[in-house]
Amino acid sequence: HIGLLQPDASGVEVLSGVVLFFRDLTSARRLEAMRADFVANASHELRTPLASLLGFIETLQGPARNDAKARERFLDIMRGQAQRMKRLIDDLLSLSRIEMRAHVPPTEPVDLTSIARQMVETLTPLARDRGVVIQATLPDGPLPVLGDRDELLRVIENLIENAVKYGESGGKVEVELASVPTPGDQGSSQAILAVQDYGPGIAPEYLPRLTERFYRVDVAESRDKGGTGLGLAIVKHIVNRHRGHLDIASEPGRGARFTVTLPEAQRA
Ligand code: ADP
Repeated sequence: HIGLLQPDASGVEVLSGVVLFFRDLTSARRLEAMRADFVANASHELRTPLASLLGFIETLQGPARNDAKARERFLDIMRGQAQRMKRLIDDLLSLSRIEMRAHVPPTEPVDLTSIARQMVETLTPLARDRGVVIQATLPDGPLPVLGDRDELLRVIENLIENAVKYGESGGKVEVELASVPTPGDQGSSQAILAVQDYGPGIAPEYLPRLTERFYRVDVAESRDKGGTGLGLAIVKHIVNRHRGHLDIASEPGRGARFTVTLPEAQRA
């Protein structure tokens, strides 16, 4: 704080005002710790497949040099590890691009119905391969929101992919899109997109942390299924940039429901 000393009528200097500066050091420190944590996590996630790649390269140059069968097997594993690193780097780049635009809300109207339909069509074969049926209930007509088409495709893609990946045993994934009046503001509407699976679901204690970067309920399962732990963090960032809301609900043993609410664009 700074005291302002000014002479009074008798010439004596008195304190005439105090200016106080407050800085929330705890939240600044928390942010710094989160950043350090993020870098440590990202480095670790990249280091693991890289170490494995180096190990296989050494084996191929040494003991397995003349073993054609081992070579084929090792090359397959190496391709898998390289693909994992690529997925991770792609997700890190997406996240940083979205973060850079966090304070610039999208201004172009895009049709959420066609975005949802496109993604359901794209993912239906993948789901079928895993024995999962995607049931979509979409509006008959367009549902315009102010948004970035690629980012919204990404949101729907990540949610359906997770529902297929983790809800596999449930056999069915429901995708619903609807327009409802905004509570408390009858003049406007909001778009509600829900993705529901009937898999094992998520225990309540994990729910609040799911959108943290690299947070996974079961790291080994996520890795096995090609996850990076960044999908829901990306979803959350995109939804926030669109002035929307992400809600996650689950009853363990009965599946999980991810609901995205977005303000609708004024119809012309
Ligand atoms: P990942 O790349 O691991 O799938 P996400 O950020 O997309 O990362 O999801 C974080 C974690 O949330 C997952 O690892 C998984 O444990 C859990 N999760 C996400 N979606 C579902 C779901 N539909 N059912 C059960 N668990 C889920």
